[in-house]
Amino acid sequence: MTFEPADLLAAAVTARALAYAPYSGFSVGAALVTPEGRVFTGENVENASYGLSMCAERVAIYNAVSHGERRFAAVAVTGPDGLRAMPCGACRQVLHEFGPAMQVILPDGDHLRIVPLSALLPEAFGGGDLAAASNGAAPAQREAR
Ligand SMILES: [Zn+2]
Repeated sequence: MTFEPADLLAAAVTARALAYAPYSGFSVGAALVTPEGRVFTGENVENASYGLSMCAERVAIYNAVSHGERRFAAVAVTGPDGLRAMPCGACRQVLHEFGPAMQVILPDGDHLRIVPLSALLPEAFGGGDLAAASNGAAPAQREAR
């Protein structure tokens, strides 16, 4: 590993301080790490129109993608006061897009819990499924031809 899981969780804790969660009061921080060790963070951003709120994990993904990163080795996620905050279903799908083999690091009392994303989203839908319905190549592969 190019990172220490505890360090990645610490980055998520730091990011959580920037959460905008005036409605739920449930602040969440997330930190992603690339295979090269670059770290990108995100925090949940709520809205008075609740459905427009965005989870910390997706903010972190979009932050990283906007900086040119496409692959991630792991994500750490923490809720308020070190409470566990499992990625929601939507975030699991978005995380899968950029790192189906990534590890998910969560606080677990005084310990860490590390779970493969594949265990949280088994038999996930992905680009390969779309490719099966087209000319056999994922969209990014077709663009490269
Ligand atoms: Zn989510």
